[in-house]
This record gives sequence, C-alpha cells and structure tokens, in this order.
Amino acid sequence: MMIVMKPEATEEQIAAVADRVRSTGCSAHVSTGEVLTVIGAIGNRDRVQALGLEGVAGVDHLVPILKPYKLASSQFRKGERSLFEVDGVEVGGGHLTLIAGPCTVEGRDQVLEVARCVSDAGASMLRGGAYKPRTSPYSFQGLGREGLRLLQEAKRQTGLPVVTELLDVRDVEDVAEVADVIQVGARNMQNYNLLTEVGRSDCAVLLKRGLAATLEELLMSAEYVLKEGNERVILCERGIRTYERSYRFTLDLLAIPALREMTHLPVVVDPSHAAGRRDWVGPMSMAAVAAGADGIIVEVHNEPDAAICDGPQALATEEFAGYVQQLGAVSAVAGRETAAAV
Ligand code: PEP
Ligand code: MN
Repeated sequence: MMIVMKPEATEEQIAAVADRVRSTGCSAHVSTGEVLTVIGAIGNRDRVQALGLEGVAGVDHLVPILKPYKLASSQFRKGERSLFEVDGVEVGGGHLTLIAGPCTVEGRDQVLEVARCVSDAGASMLRGGAYKPRTSPYSFQGLGREGLRLLQEAKRQTGLPVVTELLDVRDVEDVAEVADVIQVGARNMQNYNLLTEVGRSDCAVLLKRGLAATLEELLMSAEYVLKEGNERVILCERGIRTYERSYRFTLDLLAIPALREMTHLPVVVDPSHAAGRRDWVGPMSMAAVAAGADGIIVEVHNEPDAAICDGPQALATEEFAGYVQQLGAVSAVAGRETAAAV
C-alpha cells in the first residue's frame, strides 16, 4: 500500500503515520519527492487498511500497489524518476552516466592508465573487477584485496567514483570500503542473501540482469535491496541468452523503454558483455542512449589483445575519446545531459 501525504504534511505527521504502519508489523519506507512524500507500507495490506489512515492528519490518500515489486514500481514514486548522487555524480533524472574501465584489475600500471584515459575523456565513474565471476574455476579469479587497493589508488588519482563487483557476502566490508557502487553481477542477480547485504550497505548498487531473467524478476531482485532501505539502485541490461549464437548475448534494447514504464529506477546498458566484440560496442551504445538509457557501462583496456579477461570486447584506450564524442552527439539529439566533456 502506498500512503500519499499532503504537500503541506509536517515531518511529525509523516513520522506518526510511519509509526502507525510499523505498529501493524509492516515496514514503512518514506520517500520524499520534489513535492510529495509517500510512505510505502510493505506487508499485510489488510492490516494497513484497518488503520483507517484516510482521515489522519497529513494523509492525502491511499493507493494499493498491485505489482509484486512495490518500492521499485513507478507507481511508488507517482511517475517521478529516481535521481541520486554517487560521490558527487548525479545518476538518473535525465543525466547520462558513463561508467568505463577494465573488465578486471590486472595490475597497477594497467588500472591507473585506463583510469586516467577514461577520466580525461569524460567518463563519470571507473569500473573494474577485483573479484571475478568466471565460468571456469581454472580462469583468473581477480586480484581480490590487492585489486581493491589499486582501485582506491585509481580513485585517488582521478577522483572517479568506483564501481566494483561483490561476489560473496563475506567480502562486503572490504568491497564497501572502496566501492562507491557495488556491482551485483548477472550470475548473482538472484542471490538473495547478497542482495540483502548490499541493501544494508551505504554504497549504491548496480544490479545486472541475470542471463535468463525476466524484467519482473530483475525488479523483484531490486526490491530486496530497496527493502533494506538502500534507495540508490541502478539496473543494468547486459544481454540475455537466446538461441542466437552469432554474438555473445542478445542485447535486449526493449528492456529500456519497458523498464522506464515499470520502474522509477535508472537503467544503464552494458554493450560490452552483450556484443563480445569491440566493433559492435559503439553502435549498441548509441542505440541504447537513443532508446532512453540513463547510462552506459563499458569495458576499456590499455592493451586489449593482452587482457586477461574479455579482451575482444574491450575498447582500446586510444579509441575511447572518439567513442565518448559519438555518444555525446547521440545524447544531445536524445535530449540527455552528459557528464562527459564533449
Ligand atoms: C562484468 O561486468 O565484468 C561482468 C562479469 O558482468 P556480467 O555479470 O554482466 O557478466
Ligand atoms: Mn567483463
């Protein structure tokens, strides 16, 4: 149930309503928009209804949320899109966020060189995995804590917020100390304990769509994070598995307008893992921006041919500035503000 407060409702009235909701055993999520405050009451709807909140001071009206995802639904924000800051970078609300960096942190020179390149070209955040989910247990699994330390150094040098993946709840403290955004990878989209844990952290969360997940399942996973009180969730379309084998995954561009209808959360697109080939990354990035994506997360490497992981899909540092310029041109046509220096 969504309780819409009157524009003139006082903080005391909002707190009193939230307390009454909690007294039923339901949880109350207060969301303050530009004009209105809404309280999401999650739990037994009948008990909330029995409170008779319609006549209570400060309450305007009640709206039942019919979708199984509540806090993630666009209804919860009354159609207003999420906009939040990640260490000074605005995400959502018409901004185009460009997250770029290597698939995995391989060493000091590599990560610092790539970080400097993407920062100079105008990227808004740095990506890089210290813990890698690999299909084969014999493949490189990431530098772990050493990788996190190098990301921290890259952040200190460039000022870019860091996006890095968390694979295991046992590493949440180490990762949260360095990350501004914790990535939950496609393979962990339905790892509910992990989602709950990142929901309790102070970091924003980049939630990637599972290889065979529906959009509703993606939003149910986002709900796990939101339910813990973490409102800074970014959804990521990264390609899904279909019968088509000509490319790594099928980039589901229709997920962008569909999700924009279903949810208020920002949607970014990862063209790298979908394409699997760097020459397809540019066209898919431009298509994603034109379709309304709130951002792009893209892999970049200083020596793609020698990369330990995902080299064929990584843009080379030398071509990155040109890529950013192309994106800037499309985003201008699409009416999007880009943080990129183009
Ligand atoms: C990644 O971003 O490097 C990654 C492993 O992505 P995904 O979980 O989408 O495969
Ligand atoms: Mn990768």
